[in-house]
Amino acid sequence: MTATVMPAYHRYHIETRLTPDLVPHPPRFRVKVKKHRLLAMALKEVLAHRGNLRVALSRPCVYGVYSRPVGGLAPREELCVGCLRCTVEHPEVVQILPHPDQARLGDAYIKPEYVDTILYEARTGRVPVRGAGYRGPFGGAGWDGMWTDMSEIVRPTRDGIHGREYISTAVDLGEKPPFLEFHNGGEPTGPLPRVISTQVPFLFDAPPASAPAAQLLPILAEAACQVETLAIVPLDLALRLSLSGPSIVPWISPGDDSLLDGLERLSDPPPMLMLQGWDETRYRVLRQRFPDSLIAVRLPLGSDLMPLVERGVRLFHLEANYHGQVDGRFAMDLIQETHWRLVKGGRREEVTLIGSGGIVMAEHVPKAIISGLDAVALDTALWVALQARFEGECVDRKTARVTFPRLERTWGVQRLKNLVASWRDQLLEILGAMGLREVRRLRGELGRAMFQQDLEREAFAGIEGYGA
Ligand code: SF4
Repeated sequence: MTATVMPAYHRYHIETRLTPDLVPHPPRFRVKVKKHRLLAMALKEVLAHRGNLRVALSRPCVYGVYSRPVGGLAPREELCVGCLRCTVEHPEVVQILPHPDQARLGDAYIKPEYVDTILYEARTGRVPVRGAGYRGPFGGAGWDGMWTDMSEIVRPTRDGIHGREYISTAVDLGEKPPFLEFHNGGEPTGPLPRVISTQVPFLFDAPPASAPAAQLLPILAEAACQVETLAIVPLDLALRLSLSGPSIVPWISPGDDSLLDGLERLSDPPPMLMLQGWDETRYRVLRQRFPDSLIAVRLPLGSDLMPLVERGVRLFHLEANYHGQVDGRFAMDLIQETHWRLVKGGRREEVTLIGSGGIVMAEHVPKAIISGLDAVALDTALWVALQARFEGECVDRKTARVTFPRLERTWGVQRLKNLVASWRDQLLEILGAMGLREVRRLRGELGRAMFQQDLEREAFAGIEGYGA
């Protein structure tokens, strides 16, 4: 009798570490002090307190903005969190204003406050918490038009984060038969699922052509390997930079067919290959030459998938541009349409949908999954985490101009791990609040979401002045 040695169980965990910015980041606030009024106030205080300097020169900021020996004469703006205490106490001396350099961060879609949040997450690996409360609008365009339903709170919602219970964020990508068949002996006879599992529902998408591939791709590949997910890498670059292994998905564009020999020479076949666009001949060739790899077809979001599903395709990467748009429509609506077409066609359970474009904040991930995706591929948020600067609007792979600081590999890998850990924790918050034990159950759960448009229609339809 032979004993089977089971691998030791380890609970999934991402190691976070404080990883400061490589280049200085503009502070959020300008602390504008009227110095002559400050000096006059200090003098008055010294007289009022009869020379007790400790009392007279005490500072109103607990965050250390006035902690230099000269206090408010040289405020440390980078420490200001905008609590406004100083300006409420001394409005004639100090004003807190948005920092003008902030306006130059990101672009029309990734707003400066998004950049701030992503950098905080990448720096610390923590969930951003604003002690002064949320001060923004409670609705808006795009993902902001969806609210997630937290009404099923049945127990402390932080159990999943603190490890008192396990909430799974693993997803299965691949091909699943509609049902399993067994013969009398109990052995399966029909097709079996062919899936790979990633521990988080985020993949790393390939960067734009303007990015420094030789520096950036090894960082994406290493980080993907460490967080047990996948990095999509253009095939020519994967071969040139010798990037291979269980975390690398070579992306095959038209014209790359001559490079497939190089792919075949790898000791281990890639877990997944991604074919750009639909070409049945090339798809069949890939299936034949790489029988152990899953083949994903990458198409614009909103494409009709049913004809391809009928031809045997089961794994799709659906792409919007970096602003989440396809032909003037937003990704959230297109994902829902695609998902429902598959549900109505009776094929949804057999198919895996990965989506990318416009997913730049942690809350966009569960919203995209609720809309119908199995997993998302991240793009611009990853580069912002590595302190990339956009030159103009960052809209698509071809036209985006992105510059990076001189990237150091260990630093970059840890920044991406921190970002993923923070986003995973935020996903756990949502799953915990909904009472869900795994992210797989969130897919297409539109009953967990409310839409601003619907609620406004319910509330205001028929009232004069309501225009929707
Ligand atoms: S707004 Fe708050 S954090 Fe900023 S300087 Fe004033 S007291 Fe300090």
